[in-house]
Amino acid sequence: MRILVVGGGIAGSTLAVALRHAGLDPLVAEARHSRDALGGAFLTLAPNGVNALRAIGLGDVPSAADGFEVSGLDMHNARGRRIAELAGEHDLDRYGARGVVLRRARLHAELTRRAQAAGARYRFGARLVDLRHHAAGVTAVFADDETVEVDAVIGADGIWSTVRRLTWPDAPRPRYTGIVDCGGWTTVDLPDTSRQQMYFGHRAFFGYVVRDSLAYWFTNVPRRDEPERTEFDNLDHQDWMTRIRELHAEDPAPVRAVLGAANRSLGAWPLYDLPDLPTWHTSTVCLVGDAAHAVSPSTGQGASLAIEDAVVLARHLGEGHRPETAFAGFVAERKTRAEKIVRFGRQIGDRKASSAAGNLFRDLTLGFFLRMGAKAAREQYAYRVPQRPEFPYGPGATRA
Ligand SMILES: Cc1cc2nc3c(=O)[nH]c(=O)nc-3n(C[C@H](O)[C@H](O)[C@H](O)COP(=O)(O)OP(=O)(O)OC[C@H]3O[C@@H](n4cnc5c(N)ncnc54)[C@H](O)[C@@H]3O)c2cc1C
Repeated sequence: MRILVVGGGIAGSTLAVALRHAGLDPLVAEARHSRDALGGAFLTLAPNGVNALRAIGLGDVPSAADGFEVSGLDMHNARGRRIAELAGEHDLDRYGARGVVLRRARLHAELTRRAQAAGARYRFGARLVDLRHHAAGVTAVFADDETVEVDAVIGADGIWSTVRRLTWPDAPRPRYTGIVDCGGWTTVDLPDTSRQQMYFGHRAFFGYVVRDSLAYWFTNVPRRDEPERTEFDNLDHQDWMTRIRELHAEDPAPVRAVLGAANRSLGAWPLYDLPDLPTWHTSTVCLVGDAAHAVSPSTGQGASLAIEDAVVLARHLGEGHRPETAFAGFVAERKTRAEKIVRFGRQIGDRKASSAAGNLFRDLTLGFFLRMGAKAAREQYAYRVPQRPEFPYGPGATRA
């Protein structure tokens, strides 16, 4: 089966590894010009994401990508009082894994390296622009006019998926959440935090974690109107940081200490999620990861869901079914879980956006809301990608 994976991000590269292990020979087309050409800040991989990597022999990827483990969250109100916690001390016993903080570029590069080492073929600088369907399969057309003939196309091309737009022109577009995220890392004179520290500040939500005197931080800037796609392309770092410090000027001391030390944000990213799609597949095309179910980063689940998708889809394709049967099996297994987490993310995001109002009602109900959130997070973490023991996963597997 000739399989084209469009997008060599988290879902695409994990899928490429899993397909190779299933004895298939995918071609990955990635718009970026090289394995290392990626910006962005950092992300947290949840225990379920780490377990999904382990399921295909990639359990060492987080440490190879210089990630460090974190367990649990402390949630504070604007006065610095801890109002809820997600205790992580027992994560290892409960879930078999802890969460991991990773620099995005290193995770992408390591996954790509593993996929290439497993024999997956990559074309960098290959931006898909068209899909032409015909009796013998699909012709994929790229921006440089190159074409590829394939039997199946997997859209792993992220939230603004071209595969989705070409296949379902009327599908709902991503929904702006009312938040612009920014962040980075900076040297600080603060002790290590074993848990992530979160603050519902007076005017914006702030989070950080410290490891070896390096604080990884982010803030969610409420912004009602949707920014232009290019608005933050050339960020004036000095102006932007002044604005961020002003936003948090009345917030507790640790927040001000981290922002006082930070001299730049690595970028500013308007946050979106994706309304539920009627379907994720046709007989020859299937979506995975953010292309299918982009979830607000507030859940800390987007990357983990993308990895889970990749493992599950590779299993269905590796069982030797026609693409349509494999895609239907994959979607039946994944859609409910992913869309439930998207809805959960929307609820958290709405709470964060309301930070701007600093309203009393929010503070009064926050503790209850966060305890509900902690329960949902425990369910998300406990998920294990179902594997069939007889399925020949492993680098030695072969399939025609
Ligand atoms: C600010 C921010 C913070 C986040 N924090 C977290 C977090 O802490 N934890 C977490 O789990 N998730 C987090 N997420 C979400 C997470 O990043 C995504 O869910 C995850 O990256 C999805 O992986 P993906 O492979 O589906 O898409 P992506 O990682 O976006 O990869 C898509 C790939 O497709 C390529 N591509 C796009 N269009 C084309 C085309 N036409 N042709 C060829 N290639 C193409 C892109 O270059 C890219 O490499 C965050 C997201 C944001 C924006």
